[in-house]
Amino acid sequence: MFTLHGSGIGGGIAIGSARIIRRAGQEIPEFAIAAAQVGAEIARLKQAFARARATLQKIRDALPPDAPEELDSVLGAHLMMLADPALSEQPSNLIRQRQINAEAALARHAEKLVAAFKEIRDPYLSGKSADVAQVMDRVQGELLAAPGALSEQSEGALAGEIIVANDLTPADAVDLKRHRIGAFITNLGGPISHTAILARSMRIPAIVGMHGAIRYLRTGDLLVVDGKRGVVLVNPDAAAVATYQRRREKIRRRAQQLDGLREADAVTLDGNAVSLFLNVELPEEISACAAQNAHGVGLYRSEFLFMNRQRMPAEEEQLAAYADVVRRAQRPVTIRTLDLGADKQVDGGRAMDAVATNPALGRRAIRLCLHDLGLFRPQLRAIYRASAFGSLRIMVPMVSNMEELNQLFALLAQVKQELSEEGHAFNAAVPVGGMIEVPAAAIAADLFARKLDFLSLGTNDLIQYTLAIDRVDDEVNYLYDPLHPSVLRLIKHTIEAGKTAGIPVSMCGEMAGDVTYTRVLLGMGLREFSMEPASLLEVKRQIRLTDVSKIKSQVAAMLQTAEPDHIKRMVDEINA
Ligand code: PEP
Ligand code: MG
Repeated sequence: MFTLHGSGIGGGIAIGSARIIRRAGQEIPEFAIAAAQVGAEIARLKQAFARARATLQKIRDALPPDAPEELDSVLGAHLMMLADPALSEQPSNLIRQRQINAEAALARHAEKLVAAFKEIRDPYLSGKSADVAQVMDRVQGELLAAPGALSEQSEGALAGEIIVANDLTPADAVDLKRHRIGAFITNLGGPISHTAILARSMRIPAIVGMHGAIRYLRTGDLLVVDGKRGVVLVNPDAAAVATYQRRREKIRRRAQQLDGLREADAVTLDGNAVSLFLNVELPEEISACAAQNAHGVGLYRSEFLFMNRQRMPAEEEQLAAYADVVRRAQRPVTIRTLDLGADKQVDGGRAMDAVATNPALGRRAIRLCLHDLGLFRPQLRAIYRASAFGSLRIMVPMVSNMEELNQLFALLAQVKQELSEEGHAFNAAVPVGGMIEVPAAAIAADLFARKLDFLSLGTNDLIQYTLAIDRVDDEVNYLYDPLHPSVLRLIKHTIEAGKTAGIPVSMCGEMAGDVTYTRVLLGMGLREFSMEPASLLEVKRQIRLTDVSKIKSQVAAMLQTAEPDHIKRMVDEINA
């Protein structure tokens, strides 16, 4: 028995047998061909491209109506690559010049092309190397007529199995849904890769970025997958299996018990009413709003609409997406304006600060939007136009100085004027709020609050910027501490600034969905929380078990403490 670690995407625990999905291209035959065969070999290569295209088109056409929009655009991008004659030109030349078989020529060219993409310093473009590899693999699969592809398995053949792959394409993911698999693990991929996004939408245990998964696992191995912690137990003994079976049962029972809280109010024992909102990345997640009986959406991360595609969505496409979200939510939706830049890059022909020395401190979020009105204006127009279809709020990320707000409000006034002149229906009084995620904004929250209709604490970034630790840098992750007194003081100050100005303050960073901090935050006066759907009922339960009047003095004492061990003990006492 041994364990492997990766990035857990969530979804609980699965116990099952491993099924390694090997891609075509891992063992490629290479041999010389006769000069007379060259023409036929090139024709065979081109037919493989055509078949790969036809197969992918079939998969795209069969997408279910509730499939994430990203999926369709990624399949579209792969189809476009396959349609480009330049992609088959180089391998055809290799067949001609070296007189080798089509598989070998394709493999050599694919290797070169993927390596070239990886060398590009722009992380988004270098990330595209995975798409290129997937497209080339698909063609290689056609050449080899590789058996074992997911699409060739009969329906349900993989039910309950744990799929292990180097990487999974979105097309594979559609198949996985059909097969009702138990879990999946990939060597590659980050937590916001397409694969991860789909895993979340499928709500099955999944782990990505588990380097070594393909090397160390064999088909038939018994695996325990802990999707929350990102841990896999390989061929565990009976005692370990029994432990995880009990844990799985406990998770299931707990989820069942929590279900009973759906209709219950989020009110503390001493009568403080709390509003619980959801964080949403993909439009189809909106259905969770009604399912969880949430007050609304506290954070709709609109930048996901702009990712994984060749062209930026135009105003009309954005309008359709926002209007759909607002209509389906049937409760207020807070649309966060584009938070691109830093680790969230897109292409679509727009240069971002991917190569900046410190991208997280660079032209990100509102800075990028105010710099590029061609990007920002259509979004604001689309959001206002969507306000005719339901209740929404505009929320601006990474505000750090008042001039940004002045520019924003001037732009909003222009946009509203334009829309009125064009005769569009919209709500001119859409509330406009700002995210407090930079210490400068938190420290001066009282001043910012005078201009804004609401504030929302983005603790993921507030912690990053306050403690000077890059969110995406593994080496300093250990310093990430929501209970650091500086972080707690900034949160407290922001909550009080909102109270003084008479505007609501919510929290939409991960801290809001972690039940460890619920009481501390209630004790500091927070009454609006926004989080991933899976955390909502658990947080509600904790709220209903909390007497704020009893913990207030303990929380106040915490803010006067600097020793981490002491703070942890205090939190344990508060949560006891
Ligand atoms: C945050 O920073 O806390 C936040 C909610 O925004 P994001 O995680 O999208 O940066
Ligand atoms: Mg943020």
